[in-house]
Amino acid sequence: MKIGFFSAKPYDIRHFTNINQTFKVDIEFFDYRLCMQNVKLAEGYEVVCAFVNDSLCEEVLVELANGGTKIIAMRCAGFNNVDLIAAERLGMKVVNVPAYSPESVAEHSVALMLTLNRKIHKAYQRTRDANFALSGLVGFNMFGKTVGVIGTGKIGLATIKILLGFGCKVLAYDPYPNQAVIDLGVEYASLDSLYPQCDIISLHCPLTKDNHHLLNKVSFSQMKPGVMVINTSRGGLLDAFDAMEALKDGQIGSLGLDVYENEKGLFFEDKSNEIIQDDIFRRLSACHNVIFTGHQAFLTEEALNSIASTTLTNVTQLTTGQACNNELF
Ligand code: NAD
Repeated sequence: MKIGFFSAKPYDIRHFTNINQTFKVDIEFFDYRLCMQNVKLAEGYEVVCAFVNDSLCEEVLVELANGGTKIIAMRCAGFNNVDLIAAERLGMKVVNVPAYSPESVAEHSVALMLTLNRKIHKAYQRTRDANFALSGLVGFNMFGKTVGVIGTGKIGLATIKILLGFGCKVLAYDPYPNQAVIDLGVEYASLDSLYPQCDIISLHCPLTKDNHHLLNKVSFSQMKPGVMVINTSRGGLLDAFDAMEALKDGQIGSLGLDVYENEKGLFFEDKSNEIIQDDIFRRLSACHNVIFTGHQAFLTEEALNSIASTTLTNVTQLTTGQACNNELF
């Protein structure tokens, strides 16, 4: 059994190679993103291991199946980039890593909140230039603020626990309330009721066909003026153009994004010598009250080890005929 491993970065190679000392499977690492142009590389690989910005649309899956691929091993939780219906029709199995380290993403979400609030990004630049003036750096206490957490699964819950530690009031929204969240004394509310009450709103739900652009000009207009919005979930949950307009008139006070709808082909690559063509991205990233990180919320040693270990366990179970709990259908 051979694994064709797409979008491989040095940190993936390091962690998978280390964990593979136990599993001893044959892995070929490709730096390339999986897409129609590169799919031929996967020929002969029974297993293809892919990540968030690899394309697993029907067209690519058909080519993979023709080349002998039987298993798609997603080394991430989200699978909105996989056409599951096509995969099932083609007789492929798809597995993911549903929980590798919810704390990694939760802590990054809170890091974005604190950075935007206390203007650490500005202070870092100023003090490097021996500018110790404090004007423009005024933040607010997290203590006593109301934070809206949309999506209260594993990452939402981990985020709520940190926020409660700061003394925040948390309001939650999820079509399927989580008893562990209720046990923490957190109230669930409808979105209409949550939006106007929150000083900070943080997204922790998957992207589905029903919640594309969940945050848009209508929802922004219902929020408290000057609200902080954080998205570490999936770019498509937030309409970036509408966010830019809401930033211009101060309706959004600050915006922290680890994900972006058009991140494919942009994030995970060094583009520092290129002119970024995406005007919305350029305008947003030029704002002093917007912080982008390039889909790095998961990027901790603990999460990478856990991803490698679960992915190789998934693949070993499927290829040896054992039951695998992480099969997507
Ligand atoms: P999870 O499945 O444990 O929880 C997701 C929760 O969202 C569930 O409780 C579900 O009921 C809820 N939900 C579904 N649709 C919703 C909607 N329309 N509105 C509100 N809630 C809704 O998933 P998780 O492990 O907590 O991960 C959440 C998301 O975080 C993933 O789907 C993924 O997109 C994202 N993520 C990002 C990174 C990163 O590095 N930036 C890493 C891992 C996961």
